[in-house]
Amino acid sequence: MNEPTGKTLKRIVELHSLEDILNTFSQQKVKTSEVTAQIEALRAQIPAKMLRQHDHLRLRGKRSVAEVRNGVCSGCHMQLATGVLPALLRGAALQTCDHCGRLLYIAPPSPQPTDAPLVQPPATDAKPAKPAKSRARKKDLVAA
Ligand SMILES: [Zn+2]
Repeated sequence: MNEPTGKTLKRIVELHSLEDILNTFSQQKVKTSEVTAQIEALRAQIPAKMLRQHDHLRLRGKRSVAEVRNGVCSGCHMQLATGVLPALLRGAALQTCDHCGRLLYIAPPSPQPTDAPLVQPPATDAKPAKPAKSRARKKDLVAA
């Protein structure tokens, strides 16, 4: 299979989230055949070697994929081994984390800036503003 690695990774990430959905659904006794079908379709498109890796980690109750942030694996929070990040950026081959074995992927840049301060609404224990209509009107009259 000579597909770009990015494509395979995208499928595994998708497979991962579908499995999560399936798990939630099973717990809620929701009909799962549609999700199962999607999972089967995805699995058919992922190289067997990668599937084994994915299943292996999943069976141990782990996520099989980990996002790379600033050269650090988001699965185990360890710095990636030398050469892994450049290889990932080149999309040369699927890379796994040396520490936790997860399949690594670089997340597309998120649309919202992450370092923006959270806007906190001001504390609202102040008394609601009194309607000052009558006074305002009087003032207007005086001013006029
Ligand atoms: Zn890791």
